[in-house]
Amino acid sequence: MPTQSCDTTALLLRFIDTSKDGYGVFDANDKLIFSNYVFRDIFCLEDICTDGCNFADLVHHAFTQKRGLNIEANDIDDWLSYVGTVRRKSEFRLFEVDLVDGRWMLFSEHLLDSGELLVHTKDITRQKVTESRLKRSNEKLHHLALTDELTQLANRRSFVESVESELARCQRSEGFVTMVVMDLDYFKNINDQYGHHGGDEVLVHVAKSLKQALRQYDIVGRIGGEEFAIFLGQTDAVTSLEVAERVRALIAQTPLHYEGREIYLTASLGMTCRPCDVGFEQLYAEADEALYMAKGRGRNRVDVYPSEQTHELIA
Ligand code: GH3
Ligand code: MG
Ligand code: MG
Repeated sequence: MPTQSCDTTALLLRFIDTSKDGYGVFDANDKLIFSNYVFRDIFCLEDICTDGCNFADLVHHAFTQKRGLNIEANDIDDWLSYVGTVRRKSEFRLFEVDLVDGRWMLFSEHLLDSGELLVHTKDITRQKVTESRLKRSNEKLHHLALTDELTQLANRRSFVESVESELARCQRSEGFVTMVVMDLDYFKNINDQYGHHGGDEVLVHVAKSLKQALRQYDIVGRIGGEEFAIFLGQTDAVTSLEVAERVRALIAQTPLHYEGREIYLTASLGMTCRPCDVGFEQLYAEADEALYMAKGRGRNRVDVYPSEQTHELIA
């Protein structure tokens, strides 16, 4: 067998020192007794002598330099006390750390029986960037799937889902819920007069009026072409009628300024109010029937579906 010409320990140390991963060893008193280049870079130790430095010194150094570890704390000693509740508390620990320069490191810590802590770090910046891009594009897809592109209101699917979950939530409560369905009047004429683009602008304008007239927790969506729906949770018939009337009046009184002209428009609304244990289909069908009545009775009005809850309103 050929004789080993090179010292294996020296070779190993060279290997560790040129590695892209970080290596650090703390003794039982938490004094740093070994570190490679990458590890020292994470704690920005290039300008201090590491001999005799313990973990708290390293952290203080990075914190005052505002480099290396990104320590989001006003008081570094508070931060160190928090870290003290998890550090050296188990045989093995894996966690992610971000650096001031935007890099991300995956830290693993092995605690030996003899008290030394072996720390390994791996640069996971690329994975983190890909992860956050994926997260952003998933959020965007989710938003697109639930939002009407033109008006940015909830689309039909999202409206139905939100109302159904709200109905499930208030199933056993005492209150009432209201559905309002709204259809723009003679919208075909607007398209004929101002073109499809003018019609689209009117739809965006109406969506703005709806947002303006409603409370933040009301659910509103564009259900079809020029048809919108509003769901009011825990709202009695009298208040609901006031809301529907406010929407109708705002739309009728607020013209859209389009290419130097004013476009006036009106809408018809149908409303129903029921105890919370009602289903979506019934609510929607009743509000739609009331809308049909409003159209038949001359448009630009709110009609109410006849039920016990709305008896006094339509008497
Ligand atoms: P009514 O008062 O009876 O509701 O009359 P209307 O003219 O509004 O009649 P209808 O509801 O049948 O017409 C809806 C029109 O809306 C027909 C369609 O061309 C138009 N429309 C549907 N979706 C869009 C859209 O996204 N943009 C534009 N500009 N027009 C649309
Ligand atoms: Mg219409
Ligand atoms: Mg219609």
